[in-house]
Amino acid sequence: MSRSRIVLMAILTLVLFQALQASVRVVSMPPTVERNDFYVSNQPPLTPEPLIKLPIGAIKPDGWVRRQLELQADGFVGHLTEISQFLRKEGNAWLSPDGTGERGWEEVPYWLKGFGDLGYVLGDERIIAEAKFWIEAALKTQGEDGFFGPRANLKSSAEWKADVGEADLWPNMIMLNALQTYYEFTYDHRVLELMRNYFKWELAFPEEKFLPPFWQEQRASDNLASVYWLYNRTGDEFLLQLGAKIHRTMARWDETVASWHNVNIAQCFRAPAIFHQQSHDRHHLLATERNYAMIWGVYGEVPGGMFGGDENCRKGYHGPRQAIETCASVEFMLSCEMLLKITGDLKWADRCEDVAFNTFPPSMTADLKALHYLTSPNVCQLDHGNKAPGIQNGGEMLSYNPHSYRCCQHNVAHGWPYYAEHLWMATPDNGLAAVLYAASEVTAKVGDGTEVTIRTETHYPFADSLRFVISADKDVTFPLYLRVPKWCEAPEVKINGRKIKIHARPQSFIVIDREWGQSDKLDLTLPMTIGLRYWPRNGDSVSVDRGPLTYSLKIGEKYTRYAGTDEWPAWDVYPTTAWNYGLVIDPAKPVAKQFKVKKRSWPQDNQPFVTTAAPIEMTAKAKKIPNWQVDHLGLIDEVQQSPVQSDEKTETVTLIPMGCARLRISAFPWIGDGPGATEWQLPVGPPAAKIPTKASHCYGGDTITALSDEKLPTHSDDHDIPRMTWWPHQGTTEWVQYDFKQPRKVGAVEVYWFDDTPTGGGCRIPASWKLLYRDGDDWKDVKNASAYGVEKDKFNAVTFDAVKTSALRLEVQLQNDCSGGILEWRVQ
Ligand SMILES: [Zn+2]
Repeated sequence: MSRSRIVLMAILTLVLFQALQASVRVVSMPPTVERNDFYVSNQPPLTPEPLIKLPIGAIKPDGWVRRQLELQADGFVGHLTEISQFLRKEGNAWLSPDGTGERGWEEVPYWLKGFGDLGYVLGDERIIAEAKFWIEAALKTQGEDGFFGPRANLKSSAEWKADVGEADLWPNMIMLNALQTYYEFTYDHRVLELMRNYFKWELAFPEEKFLPPFWQEQRASDNLASVYWLYNRTGDEFLLQLGAKIHRTMARWDETVASWHNVNIAQCFRAPAIFHQQSHDRHHLLATERNYAMIWGVYGEVPGGMFGGDENCRKGYHGPRQAIETCASVEFMLSCEMLLKITGDLKWADRCEDVAFNTFPPSMTADLKALHYLTSPNVCQLDHGNKAPGIQNGGEMLSYNPHSYRCCQHNVAHGWPYYAEHLWMATPDNGLAAVLYAASEVTAKVGDGTEVTIRTETHYPFADSLRFVISADKDVTFPLYLRVPKWCEAPEVKINGRKIKIHARPQSFIVIDREWGQSDKLDLTLPMTIGLRYWPRNGDSVSVDRGPLTYSLKIGEKYTRYAGTDEWPAWDVYPTTAWNYGLVIDPAKPVAKQFKVKKRSWPQDNQPFVTTAAPIEMTAKAKKIPNWQVDHLGLIDEVQQSPVQSDEKTETVTLIPMGCARLRISAFPWIGDGPGATEWQLPVGPPAAKIPTKASHCYGGDTITALSDEKLPTHSDDHDIPRMTWWPHQGTTEWVQYDFKQPRKVGAVEVYWFDDTPTGGGCRIPASWKLLYRDGDDWKDVKNASAYGVEKDKFNAVTFDAVKTSALRLEVQLQNDCSGGILEWRVQ
């Protein structure tokens, strides 16, 4: 382009902008030199927030987001008091003014935190009234000393348990969140009083006993965020002292990944960035991104935005059949929402949408009447049978059941309401920012204090166009921020039908600063292109993306009821069509030419996250891989190295958005020929025990074959190797037994006890144990045994008078209220 043409275009652009009276610019985040005049944001010395949460009620979601909330209100979340035993009102410690009673742990606040917000966002009077009943009760539980909530969480209580430390503050951390949005909804000053008194109690609590031993120590940044929330409203200086104390005593997420439990990761990796608001130490901000890189770099080479967490990340288990807990999906979405406010960095909006669109919807059935514990990128059957150790947890994990999954069953409630509350945010320069795109209506004060309403009309992320209709009582000047997602190279903007020339880079804001009229229309187009992502750590499998959506094979689903009630049934889901496909990709052809996009009509009921109602589909070329099958547990076999050989015919298959697919393949092997292509191997069967073994009981997720598998632990809390446990048996007398193929002479054994105290589990070293040997039909104690050791992190050896026997039995007495287990049992 010639110099004169550039000058001419610049003049034309300027003229156009003048005609529209707009200043248009591109920024990476809103400036923090000013402070929003209308909405509560960080007070000094806390770092200023580039994005500010609007009070609850300011955003009225529409379209599919509203539909999720309505379905949630009619589904198990809206009716959980009728389903969950933890929400039974009789004798509930959360409802008792003196905090006595039962069921006083995390379940009530987990549910109430989302349930209340659901009511406020929807304006649902039934839900608002039910939430108020629980909130009122919680407000009345505060004692003279400032502590509130169930007293069983304190050492002074008769019900107190040794494994929670001097005080278990975790349940209250969640209840504080429920109280905070209740305050934003009602401005009920009792909330501020309760929080102030409670935080004084926390500040006075002896520091060395403040947070240990586990859950509360891990998750204390939730407490910290609530301290800052109150500080921004009251300015009480003591709250900053408490903030520093919480940071000093909590798990060291600022130094490393402090726990590999999947929910702790999703919830706590954000901790250092939260404290950064007070410390202003750049390393704290970097530590959150370092945590993210450490976790996702190893376990996150999968589509859907989460990682292979199961219960805990385990070495070697990082493929697309590993799963994420529903709690972790909602906690990660919340982390992104919080980090957006603190940093203004739009990568958190992209990461939030990735999980919200691709991973979170299938955590529940399409009618939101049942949920499961674990969601995987690749899963071909969701039955209630045990899948451990392929997936870490044993027993029912994948099937949909509204009566089960305890933590997720209650905690899932906040996923969609919190998402809806963060679609729009205020900016420090008295503007508004569209950060998570969805149909909605936002009403907020801008510019000189005029209230403006912006209606967003869109089917995003299933469509690439958004229309914003602006209305106000009078014209008002303010900056409007529009987010450009990371996948969008060439966004287009039109104001009242006139195109604005703009070069906005991905993950930036387009800022349009002008006097907005009373019915201005702004059109934003975010062109979506098809892209492939390869996952080298996972067999070089491939995922197909278009815009923010990742696509999955469309698999026929058959729902079979296996439990529950007629009103609230539980479902297994089985495939009715083949799923074992590899994609046929031609490296010489442009990607866009290899997939055909088919737009379908928008579902009348506004629920797009259904296999058969997906508003957009794609076709692709694929070949079956006959040896890719489910393993002996009914778990999809892991992806093997691509390219993969296949002599099957090439077929045209349909892909649908991952979020619409409950059975799904979204990390595909791909087909190749030639000598480098892999011959896919059938799944390997169950490992056999080296010595035939029996047990009085073994937890479904563990295996008695662990005792003699010669996989040696590095410490007693080693989760990287198989184990046997008597979980959930507690305080009982239990046994394990070796049946030798031929009688043998034994005079010594060694036992390595499993004990997951450090990671918050329920297994401990036993109170005592002894050995017996079979003598004919009798079991006899071995004689002259040396000490029966119960030490952690080592083999406990015992010698005795040698006997010749066909079987040896190890009998243990479990500690009171504890279970136990063994990692290895060697016989000499
Ligand atoms: Zn959970």
